[in-house]
Amino acid sequence: MTETHSDLIIVGAGILGLAHAWAAARRGLRVTVFERSHTPLGASVRNFGQALVSGQAPGPMLELAREARQLWVALAQAAGLSLRQEGSLLFARTEAEEALLVAFCAGRGQALGYRSELLRGAALTELYGGRFAHHRAALHGLDDQQLYSREALPQIVDYLATQLDVRFHFSTLVRDVTPGHVLTTRGRFDAAQVVVCSGHDYQTLLAGPLAALEPQVCQLQMLRARLRQPLELRHAVLTGLSCVHYGAYADLPEAEAIREQIRREQPELERWGVHLLISPTPHGELIIGDSHAYGSDASPFNAEAVDQVLIDLAQHTLGGELEVLERWQGVYGCRGPGPFSITRAAPGVTAVLMHTGLGMSVGPALGERVIAELFG
Ligand SMILES: Cc1cc2nc3c(=O)[nH]c(=O)nc-3n(C[C@H](O)[C@H](O)[C@H](O)COP(=O)(O)OP(=O)(O)OC[C@H]3O[C@@H](n4cnc5c(N)ncnc54)[C@H](O)[C@@H]3O)c2cc1C
Repeated sequence: MTETHSDLIIVGAGILGLAHAWAAARRGLRVTVFERSHTPLGASVRNFGQALVSGQAPGPMLELAREARQLWVALAQAAGLSLRQEGSLLFARTEAEEALLVAFCAGRGQALGYRSELLRGAALTELYGGRFAHHRAALHGLDDQQLYSREALPQIVDYLATQLDVRFHFSTLVRDVTPGHVLTTRGRFDAAQVVVCSGHDYQTLLAGPLAALEPQVCQLQMLRARLRQPLELRHAVLTGLSCVHYGAYADLPEAEAIREQIRREQPELERWGVHLLISPTPHGELIIGDSHAYGSDASPFNAEAVDQVLIDLAQHTLGGELEVLERWQGVYGCRGPGPFSITRAAPGVTAVLMHTGLGMSVGPALGERVIAELFG
C-alpha cells in the first residue's frame, strides 16, 4: 500500500466514521479517515453519550443497540474509555407516566426481553438516599451505558491511530467522491471502497443520492451544569417525557394520556420538542438537554426560554439547584427514509447516515454490519 492508497477510505470522524474504521482495522484492512475539522466537532461530541438499549423501537434499532452494547464494552476496554454501566433511570413524575411504565414492563418489556426493572415504594425511596423519592416510579434500564463523548471520541481516534494503524487526515475536506478515489484538499487518494459518514452535511458530497433520501436536520439546545447540593450520580437519567419520543414506548396506548397532559399543562414542551435527559460526566458535572427543532437548516439562535424550561425540569427531577457552566447547540440528521440509511451511491461508494438522534446507541453495530457486507 502506498501513502495514498488504502483498502478503505472513510469520510468523517464522528462515531459512524470511527465505528467503520474500527470494524475494518480489526479485520486487518488498511484504513484512511478524512475529517474536515482538526478534531471531531459534530453531533458525536455534542451529545449525551447515552448508549441506550431500553428506549429503542422493536425491530432493527433494538437489534443494533443490543449488538452495539457488547461492542462498546470491547471498545471501551481496548481504548481505555470511561464507560458507565450502571444503566439508566427513567423517572415517572405523573400518574400517566407511571401507568405507561407499568404497562410496558408487563407487556412489551417482557415479550421482547428489554432488560429493565420497575422501582417503586422502598426501592425508589432508597435510591440515592431518598433523593428521588418525590417521583412515582423509576424504570431502571439495565443494559444502558454512557460515555463522556467529548473525551471518548478523541480517545478512540488515538487508539485507532496508535494501536490499529488507521491513518487520519484532520483539517482535510473531501471535495468529491468517485468509484475508487476521493479528491481532498490534500490531493487525490485511492481505495477499493469509500464509506461516507458525513453526518448532516447533505451537500458537499453525493448531493444527488442524499437529496433523494429527503433528509432534514434537528437542532437541540444543551447545557453542562453542576448541582449546588452534591449528588454522585452514576446513572443516565430520563423522565416520562421520553415516553412520547422513544420508539419503545411512544406507540403504546398509554402514551396518549401523557401527550394529552403535556398539551393541557405545558404545551411548550411539545412545541419545543423538550424531553429531559441528564448524563453525569466523569468530573462530577451533568450534561442536560434537550429540545428538538426540525427543518432543512439549523437556526443559529438558541432560545433562552427553552434553556430555562430544561433547567427547571432538571432541577425538579434531581431535587436540587443547578449552576450552568456551558451552553451549546447540537445538530443531527433526521427524517430520512428510516432511523438510518445505507446508500450504495456508486460501485465501491457507500453513504451511511443516521436519521434519528440515536447514533451513539447503534453506531458501533452499524459500522460492523456495513464493513462485514463490504469486506466479509
Ligand atoms: C445534542 C445531541 C444529543 C444526542 N444524544 C445522543 C445520545 O445520548 N445517544 C445517542 O445514541 N445519540 C445521541 N445523539 C445522536 C448522535 O450523536 C448522532 O446520531 C451521531 O453522533 C451521528 O454520528 P455521525 O458520525 O453520523 O455524525 P457526526 O458526529 O456529525 O460526524 C460527521 C463528521 O463528518 C465530517 N464531514 C462531513 N462532511 C465532510 C467532508 N466532505 N469532508 C471531511 N469531513 C466531513 C464532519 O466534520 C463531522 O465531524 C445526539 C445528538 C445530538 C446533536
